[in-house]
Amino acid sequence: MKVLVINAGSSSLKYQLIDMEGEKLLAKGLCERIGIDGHLKHTPLVDDKPVFNEDLPLPTHAEAIAAVIDKLTSAEYGVVSSMSEIDAVGHRVVHGGEKFASSVLITDEVMKALEDCTPFAPLHNPANITGINACVEVMGKDVPQVGVFDTAFHQTMPAKAYMYALPYDYYTKDGVRRYGFHGTSHRYVSQRCAELMGRPIEELKLISCHMGNGSSICAIMNGKSVDTSMGFTPLVGLPMGTRSGDVDPGALQFVMNRYGMDIDAMLNVLNKKSGVLGISGVSSDFRDLENAAEEGNERARLALDMFDYSVAKVVGSYVAAMNGVDAIIFTAGVGENAPTTRSGICSYLGYLGCEIDEAANAKRGSDNRISTDASKVQLWVIPTNEELVIARDTRDIVSAL
Ligand code: ADP
Repeated sequence: MKVLVINAGSSSLKYQLIDMEGEKLLAKGLCERIGIDGHLKHTPLVDDKPVFNEDLPLPTHAEAIAAVIDKLTSAEYGVVSSMSEIDAVGHRVVHGGEKFASSVLITDEVMKALEDCTPFAPLHNPANITGINACVEVMGKDVPQVGVFDTAFHQTMPAKAYMYALPYDYYTKDGVRRYGFHGTSHRYVSQRCAELMGRPIEELKLISCHMGNGSSICAIMNGKSVDTSMGFTPLVGLPMGTRSGDVDPGALQFVMNRYGMDIDAMLNVLNKKSGVLGISGVSSDFRDLENAAEEGNERARLALDMFDYSVAKVVGSYVAAMNGVDAIIFTAGVGENAPTTRSGICSYLGYLGCEIDEAANAKRGSDNRISTDASKVQLWVIPTNEELVIARDTRDIVSAL
């Protein structure tokens, strides 16, 4: 079975075509500037086919999907001979609210439920819905479409973890609660970690640190998410590339009054001008921050220190929540590629008996254990693969039809 994995944003669309036999990636690509002008980078990964990387008009998502299918099936850049070889499509959907605790086959009813979740993710869900509609328009109703939600894995959190201490009606009437994000990534790396440890996930306490442009941490007990650092939106928890993480709402009211900002202007600052960018004034990219800190930039140093410290505090709180931890996992852009951040975080974890093996930590490569044999808690670097999870869920759901 060949599965097309789609991650549609408001003006972009990422895709991968995966042959589930051997889980082989056949092609991947990115449409950008949809609705503006348009650019497609298509990378075939078989038969030494050339990369297509050109501007081309992409007025709508449907036209972007049509361009992707055209490239996937073309003689020059293609990896399949016709669209009929694509058996199913798996879509990343950001917010499934409380309606979706697992991946689902997209039906008219599901589309309606997705619309109902849109107020929770007004920037993301409409783009995901547009992506699904575009695929149906171009590929027809007979190709099954599956939705895989960022929030679904966290639906196992107990009420004591997901409730906010606000008037209860905001939860019952309006659905205001912690939902959590990056669930597909936390699920993948926790399952992979159990496999690598050679132990059933049902008997493990794991903490997964997804650290990229957006960052979140997840406590996983017996294979289930029991707490996570993002909340109703992906804005809270850790300081991120440009997102603030936790801030006292009273401080926001103070700033808004002082600068005459409305809530939208404030949220724009919190989402786009805060985090390690806001602190350092240098960059949201950890590579730039490391370079600046090395050259003596104190605010870049502070931003990195705040990040490590925040991660260590959340990890500590999840050890308390689970009454222990067997392994801590680092993943995503920063988690996979920044040894100094990993070792900075682990420098706080000596009380747990965590011992990092600096030689292993310095090595690149996938699925890398970076704790010493004596370490009481295993430390792992596991590259995330959200697309593979989406493709696997899609295969499982479609095979059972
Ligand atoms: P997203 O959350 O957008 O999916 P990624 O998981 O790809 O992001 O992470 C992107 C971030 O990873 C970059 O902003 C950068 O800070 C970080 N990163 C990538 N490579 C390195 C590296 N070699 N050293 C430090 N940080 C890195």
